[in-house]
Amino acid sequence: MAKILDGKALAATLHEEQAREVTKLAAKAGRPPGLAVVLVGADPASQTYVANKRNACKKVGIYAPDYNLKSETTTGELLSLIDTLNRDPAIDGILVQLPLPAGIEKEAVLTRIAPDKDVDGFHPANLGRLVAGEPGLVACTPRGVITLLDRSGIPIAGKHAVVIGRSLIVGRPMALLLLNRDATVTICHSKTPNLPAMAREADILVAALGRPEMIGRDYIKPGATVIDVGISRGSDGKLKGDVRFEEAAAVCGAITPVPGGVGPMTIATLLDNTLDAYRHHTGLSTH
Ligand code: NAD
Repeated sequence: MAKILDGKALAATLHEEQAREVTKLAAKAGRPPGLAVVLVGADPASQTYVANKRNACKKVGIYAPDYNLKSETTTGELLSLIDTLNRDPAIDGILVQLPLPAGIEKEAVLTRIAPDKDVDGFHPANLGRLVAGEPGLVACTPRGVITLLDRSGIPIAGKHAVVIGRSLIVGRPMALLLLNRDATVTICHSKTPNLPAMAREADILVAALGRPEMIGRDYIKPGATVIDVGISRGSDGKLKGDVRFEEAAAVCGAITPVPGGVGPMTIATLLDNTLDAYRHHTGLSTH
């Protein structure tokens, strides 16, 4: 049976470490880290995600003021809030919860966030740094996967990683992070022929395609590490990953469950990114 990579337990450990770090740094800086979480509209899934993010901030001592805007908010109004937050010295990170209501220009909003406060890592300046292999703020989910691999003692350098999915939020930054850590990386997507054979080459297989339980045994090399990023809600109301867990766990070496794998790591990494931005803004480091 495969080793279960317990993202929920690791995230709890990370939150404890982050809380200690916040206490230490805030005493020197004279202020806590600040993360502005902006929610536009009343999408129930987004409300849950935002509540989880705000709760995690409170748990570790990050100042997290609420910005709940009505769904009729215009692009101009949202840009003006971002300008205010960009100038606010108490705010280190700005997160605008996606998806935005139709009618709001997403690209204009995401590129307006100051790159040094872009804790989601979606700004082209941060994506460029990632491509160049330079330090910068990186999208939370893929950075969280790297943390999970590292803290589970799973080597990356020299391994063949196959990433299924090429979105800007998960697949692409995931592939670049693995490449920057000296993996040999293959990116697969909806036009890739013979996907199972490609996936079977992987020492580290990252499934980020959003197709519930599509990845079965025939996609997995015995002993591989399987990271299931997918989250979909099945017709039974239960959360489903992209991987058929039981089937995969019988053949792979290590696997993330859904829920309780990558999801909690995404939030823990949002706080890591906020702390990185705070260290940058205050000039402080614990290292
Ligand atoms: P997306 O729809 O933007 O991208 C999906 C990618 O998968 C695309 O690049 C597409 O080419 C590829 N794809 C789709 N169907 C495919 C198929 N049949 N074969 C091969 N490739 C295929 O989605 P996304 O935003 O990258 O998210 C992917 C999944 O990860 C979703 O289930 C999403 O809910 C989940 N997600 C989870 C977290 C987390 O914290 N755990 C965070 C972000 C996204």
